[in-house]
Amino acid sequence: MPTSPRLRVVVTGAATGLLAALASSGTLAPPAAATAPRATASQSRALQTDAQHAAAVASATAVATRSGRALGPRAAARPTRVTAVPSSVVAAIGSSVAARGSVAGGGTHPVRLQRKAVNGWATVATSSTRNGRYVLRVPTRSAGTQTLRVLAGATGSAVSRPFSVGVGAGNPRSVAYLTRPAPRWDPCRPITYRVNLARAPRGAAADVDRSIAKVSAATGLRFVKAGSTTVVPGSAGRDILDEYPRGTDLVVAYSRPGASGYLPRGSRTLGVGGAFFEQGTTAVRGREWHRILQGYLVVDGTQGLPGGFGPGNVSGYQGTWGQVLMHELGHVVGLDHPGVRDPRQIMHVETTRKPAVWGAGDLVGLRALGSASGCF
Ligand SMILES: [Zn+2]
Repeated sequence: MPTSPRLRVVVTGAATGLLAALASSGTLAPPAAATAPRATASQSRALQTDAQHAAAVASATAVATRSGRALGPRAAARPTRVTAVPSSVVAAIGSSVAARGSVAGGGTHPVRLQRKAVNGWATVATSSTRNGRYVLRVPTRSAGTQTLRVLAGATGSAVSRPFSVGVGAGNPRSVAYLTRPAPRWDPCRPITYRVNLARAPRGAAADVDRSIAKVSAATGLRFVKAGSTTVVPGSAGRDILDEYPRGTDLVVAYSRPGASGYLPRGSRTLGVGGAFFEQGTTAVRGREWHRILQGYLVVDGTQGLPGGFGPGNVSGYQGTWGQVLMHELGHVVGLDHPGVRDPRQIMHVETTRKPAVWGAGDLVGLRALGSASGCF
């Protein structure tokens, strides 16, 4: 923690607020109405495709069993090992992503790409090996980070190591970092957080925990909730490390304008997130980073936004508390607003009417700042 006098810390230059745009309902309503039926149609297509895959797997299994009996020992060759590598770990919706690998054990084998679901694994694509190798198409129809694996053989006797592929809306290059080199937390140490709900609307505690879970899933950073606090980050000023309760790395506070240097009186800012970090840099796996020491997140709880993670209102303030929290937590872990205009990113400078789901650029940045880049 920042008690050593040798340690100089600076506040991030880009820890700016998130100002919601006022909607002009006339322009927003038509696209919303037009997209809803399309989403339904693509969902039902997805279900059909999955059902077809399931049927294909079932028939492949049956054929293999029959030929196994007919051909005896030769066809009984079982795959012993399967590898799987995605062509991309983050992709835009609708883009082409393949999982490729090899199957050891001789012969030709059916292979199945499976996605982790709430209750087990669901097959999402099937193929078979050629000369011991295979290519499977990773579904990119909808946004989200999927955990995948490949099963080889009719009975799935060989299973690859799980891997993840993030799918998001917009451009994967719509990403920026708070400083250069970027600041990041040590992914090998849990980030302990406390929540101040003094000015919180109903449902705020659940929104905070769900937002933190979404950051954790996209970065691999581990967060530990230590409880509540009365601290409001920035109450002593914008450029001063806050006095947090012992062992607390991050405070998330619902406050009001005037109570924090981050939310001046008369402010229309919805929220502010950022981090204090070591001024010197540290090399991790040959790349330089600023190491984050303390994070802060303050939102103006007096603003009337809907809770949760849905698309939000058609008119008035755009977005939801979920979207605001995800955006500010993006700053807390080192992301800035993208330099290009891409309102589909959660890190876009303003809230917009959209479900609170990470965009492709968000996912690229969050992955780079997390456990994939190694520990300090
Ligand atoms: Zn922002």
